[in-house]
Amino acid sequence: MTITTISQPAARDRPATSGTMKAFVYQGPGKSALEQHPKPDIVAPTDAIVKMVKTTICGTDLHILKGDVATCRPGRILGHEGVGVVDKIGPAVTAFKPGDRVMISCVSACGKCVYCRKQMFSHCTTGGWILGNSIDGTQAEFVRIPYADNSLYPIPAGADKEALVMLSDILPTGFECGVLNGKVQPGNIVAIVGAGPVGLAALLTAQFYSPAEIIMIDLDANRLEVAKRFGATSAVNSTNGKAADTVLKMTGGRGVDTAIEAVGIPATFELCEEIVAPGGIIANIGVHGHPVSLRLERLWDRNIAITTRLVDTASTPMLLNILRSGKIDPKRLITHRFKLDRILEAYETFGHAAASKALKVIIEA
Ligand SMILES: [Zn+2]
Ligand SMILES: [Zn+2]
Repeated sequence: MTITTISQPAARDRPATSGTMKAFVYQGPGKSALEQHPKPDIVAPTDAIVKMVKTTICGTDLHILKGDVATCRPGRILGHEGVGVVDKIGPAVTAFKPGDRVMISCVSACGKCVYCRKQMFSHCTTGGWILGNSIDGTQAEFVRIPYADNSLYPIPAGADKEALVMLSDILPTGFECGVLNGKVQPGNIVAIVGAGPVGLAALLTAQFYSPAEIIMIDLDANRLEVAKRFGATSAVNSTNGKAADTVLKMTGGRGVDTAIEAVGIPATFELCEEIVAPGGIIANIGVHGHPVSLRLERLWDRNIAITTRLVDTASTPMLLNILRSGKIDPKRLITHRFKLDRILEAYETFGHAAASKALKVIIEA
């Protein structure tokens, strides 16, 4: 996700506290622990403190643990997804009160800066993706949420809390970065490269627009099976290195109208370059850590577009409505559940997804 930093003294993030709590803490590349940590307190008038009920682990958290995310310093509590109950509010918070049940957005938004005014909350000049990155996150008993009025959503009566955890990040990410940017349309052919949780979220939300075909591409047979259950019209196993040929054959040599990249490595982006049809769009979702070769000598005359985006969560209110209507069931992405005490085991399970068949793991505080 993003590399937004807000400059603030460390003490602002760790104010005077009343008591301690359990929290999962990044301690530097390859090192992490569940430890006792000071409970967060209100720092700015627009803050809320939320008592966590359920959270989850994101692929981005695994990147952080490897040391790939420079903005996330050792000592940081990880996590940017979840649902909870408002425990305390700052004097400027007007939309929520203690006791309210809330869904936490992975993106914090001031609502006032030049990017927020454009609904590009991911680039909020004092917010964006800061939770579990440059400020402490949700894999703990309590979390401080900046700009609470804009960064929390009330949980509708009767809504399923676990389904809502999928709306903190992966549903809006798959939808905004993949489906909206990829301009998925009725009757179109879509390919999604990567059948992990975010690729599957793109698969679920692409179906809002009734594309004629959704081709799912992955190395993992189990994930491809899941994709078919979730509505993929075909599944291509790319283990043999011939996925591009297969997709071109399936489409009469034309390629696909939208190629969604949901992995974040050079090979998968280059596959999208090979399978995009003239006039098509490559919509990148993956978090890339390495340069990718752009084959302009082949693509220059093909009228294609390439889009990149960090999730803005601007679609969250719409996704909440869709969830309420029952037209989508993101709870199907959940494969495992753990108590916070067993979060190390949860990371182990999520980190070895091929063996454990894990998609999203729920962690109960
Ligand atoms: Zn995430
Ligand atoms: Zn802003």
